[in-house]
Amino acid sequence: MDEVRERNSHEPEFLQAVQEVAETVIPYIATQKIYDGKNILLRMVEPERAITFRVPWVDDQGEIRVNRGYRIQMNSAIGPYKGGLRFHPTVTMSVLKFLAFEQVFKNSLTTLPMGGGKGGADFDPKGKSDSEIMRFCHSFMAELFRYIGPNTDVPAGDIGVGSKEIGYLYGMYRKIRNEFTGVLTGKGLSWGGSLIRPEATGYGTVYFAENMLKTQKKSFENKIVSISGSGNVAQYAAEKAIQLGAKVVTLSDSSGYIYDEEGITEEKLAHVMQLKNVEKSRISAYIAKYSSAKFVAGKTPWKVACDIAMPCATQNELNGDDAKELIKNGCICVSEGANMPSTPEAILAFHKAKILFAPGKASNAGGVATSGLEMTQNSLRFNWPREEVNEKLKQIMSDIHSSCLAYGTEEDGYVNYVKGANIAGFVKVADAMLAQGVI
Ligand code: NDP
Repeated sequence: MDEVRERNSHEPEFLQAVQEVAETVIPYIATQKIYDGKNILLRMVEPERAITFRVPWVDDQGEIRVNRGYRIQMNSAIGPYKGGLRFHPTVTMSVLKFLAFEQVFKNSLTTLPMGGGKGGADFDPKGKSDSEIMRFCHSFMAELFRYIGPNTDVPAGDIGVGSKEIGYLYGMYRKIRNEFTGVLTGKGLSWGGSLIRPEATGYGTVYFAENMLKTQKKSFENKIVSISGSGNVAQYAAEKAIQLGAKVVTLSDSSGYIYDEEGITEEKLAHVMQLKNVEKSRISAYIAKYSSAKFVAGKTPWKVACDIAMPCATQNELNGDDAKELIKNGCICVSEGANMPSTPEAILAFHKAKILFAPGKASNAGGVATSGLEMTQNSLRFNWPREEVNEKLKQIMSDIHSSCLAYGTEEDGYVNYVKGANIAGFVKVADAMLAQGVI
């Protein structure tokens, strides 16, 4: 870790992600002779390639703007690089390297042949017109196209990159390359997309939690669920939790959270989707229609009592104090929809209290897994029906859960899902790297 810290001293998020993996994987490596002297983890923390590039575009006033674009190609030992694109003003090399590093383990866990990557730009889509977003996406792809391809690197969406942005990005790639291939996932249904892909991350997070709860003979039925975020992952996590009989009481965005004690029903969730996806409004607008709910400005929802918490907004949104509050209020299960939303102090508190805790690299892997299924359908030039994709997603989440049990069950029977996910994800990639020599 000293060497990694020295080399990446200005990258706190990346160091946080590496530290968390190192803590569980290094003791495992020490017990396995085949890794002796191979410096596998040290090789894994260095991206195979990290690209930054200029993204110039013209705003609606005719002003020329410049953003910075990135693509981190972290590891391709088990398949083409795969991972989303994030458009958000907080995007930096550190944030993308942490996401790309996590992605390597997550993709390995899915059992599908996908390496890990991540990319994006410090562009803020909020408040931009459709034409501005289109011009930005076109300019971004006019450079990114050099580094990606269906057998090289297959990006997808993430924060700030939804189906609209994927459409603009795909259009420019197709024009420049003059080929119609599965180079991006999260595509529209009529041009190569997969059913269930929009729902997959949120649904998968709930399916994973369902598997965890089953180990204690519990379920979502009648449980109080607190969710943060109100974007793609949060919306579909809420939808699935409601379908399974839970009462979802919170949603949030970067301005604060709403608390609806009576529960967010399917009808209320449809209104949230209209507000966030169509009207591009804030979550606070919810209380204008549902006066029984309240909006708490500038806060995260973790002080609200719940049985199950699902952080689905962004990294480090749930800290040690939040974790203690959740535990004190009776929370029995935390399933991360976002990437690294819990701080190291929060994870420590969950482990100390021995509650069910799933790290995002396991519990939110349903999104990339279904992206993998989209790639397969593109290669087959065939679309599977909705129920078939959903069943495959459920099976993959259950398999990931089993891998976590295999590597994460401790002597007293408590399952450390962080350890389980890290080691299970590591083994497949490390063994492929060993087989391929020093590359
Ligand atoms: P969206 O852009 O659809 O939604 C993001 C949500 O998080 C919004 O409600 C947003 O609020 C909130 N948010 C973003 N940044 C912050 C912040 N700094 N503080 C508080 N709230 C914030 O993104 P997704 O739902 O796709 O992604 C959410 C998380 O899930 C991310 O961590 C992402 O990496 C992860 N993820 C996503 C996958 C996918 O398939 N989409 C797959 C696996 C993981 P606001 O509107 O105010 O910005």
